[in-house]
Amino acid sequence: MATTTSFTEDLYVLLTRKYNPDYKHLDNHEFVGTMTYGSDPTRPDTSDNSYECNVTEHYIARVEPVSPNIRVSVIKKALEDHFRVGCSCEHDCCGHSFGGVRQIKYLGDGHLYSITCGYARNY
Ligand SMILES: [Zn+2]
Repeated sequence: MATTTSFTEDLYVLLTRKYNPDYKHLDNHEFVGTMTYGSDPTRPDTSDNSYECNVTEHYIARVEPVSPNIRVSVIKKALEDHFRVGCSCEHDCCGHSFGGVRQIKYLGDGHLYSITCGYARNY
């Protein structure tokens, strides 16, 4: 079932990459703005099926950069950092999701981005 829920979150670009995604908040990071995003209503939503091992998610995000000088390439990096997921379990088959952005398209006007993410579970 498609969802109309949207989220507004702070967006950071990582300046270091010392930690795995579970601890990415410990890396040095820089605030680039806020983003509001929801599932793309024009695409089938497969994220509800939590028993699927491979899930593809599509989002449309509107980014409000903290400064007009922030480049699209930096925002794309921050979006990749935001959606990258992993866990720090030290064993297989924990069931947690791994993955992140497979494709980002800058849609232009109004700082809109189309984001495709792919996640697999550690089974
Ligand atoms: Zn895990």
